[in-house]
Amino acid sequence: MLGRILLGCAVVVAIALAVLTGPAQSQREGWDSQRVRMVRQQIEARGVRDPRVLEAMRTVRREQFVPESIRTYAASDSPLPIGFEQTISQPYIVAYMTEMLALDSDHRVLEIGTGSGYQTAVLATLCDHVYSIEIVPELAERSAKILQELDYRNVSVRLGDGYLGWPEHAPYDRIIVTAAPPQLPQALVDQLATQGRLVAPVGRNPDAQKIVLVTKDARGNVRQQDQLPVRFVPMVRGTDRR
Ligand code: SAH
Repeated sequence: MLGRILLGCAVVVAIALAVLTGPAQSQREGWDSQRVRMVRQQIEARGVRDPRVLEAMRTVRREQFVPESIRTYAASDSPLPIGFEQTISQPYIVAYMTEMLALDSDHRVLEIGTGSGYQTAVLATLCDHVYSIEIVPELAERSAKILQELDYRNVSVRLGDGYLGWPEHAPYDRIIVTAAPPQLPQALVDQLATQGRLVAPVGRNPDAQKIVLVTKDARGNVRQQDQLPVRFVPMVRGTDRR
């Protein structure tokens, strides 16, 4: 008799668990397969090859960084609005810029323009530590919270003006800028380590921006190469927002 009651209880608990976790589980699997497709169709198809970058793009849960109201578009081939007139970048651009950085697991990285925190999470998956600066207080707060909830521990997000960099932790092995300044900010070039790489969209006119790759050799000589034409939100000056 007791055995039957216990069995009955176990069945009830199992059904309750299946009802509660089932939809969440299959939703999670749905997102996972959307990201696998996103990487194949949008990113590999356009020539990104670094297997570590591709794996990071498959595993970082992009949908968690997108506002809930537009979450169904999380894997689409375009930038998406994240509020405050800012956008989360198109997945391909995130992968392209990340590949161009050529990250190693021991690198310390400075990111300008935390935004949604998505690019931050991709970087954090591939390096030792990410220092990220965001100028919009609400976005800095929101992205820091999401990154913490998703257990990214090697990330520091700070509210501040990216034109100044983050001198306290310089020099950085890698620097990535995800808003477009009219010219390369000298403070960032100064905060780049020797043998370092900096990737940034540069240009005042949104129709004439280019991704720029800056490399610094062992002697500190700086070289700049123009890459892909792009369209990013402008990198604003600290004083613009007061
Ligand atoms: N990498 C982000 C892209 C966000 S868009 C993502 O994947 O979501 C660019 C971000 O740069 C915006 O959040 C904007 O507020 C921020 N930004 C613009 N000017 C800045 C500045 N001077 N310093 C720091 N962040 C800045």
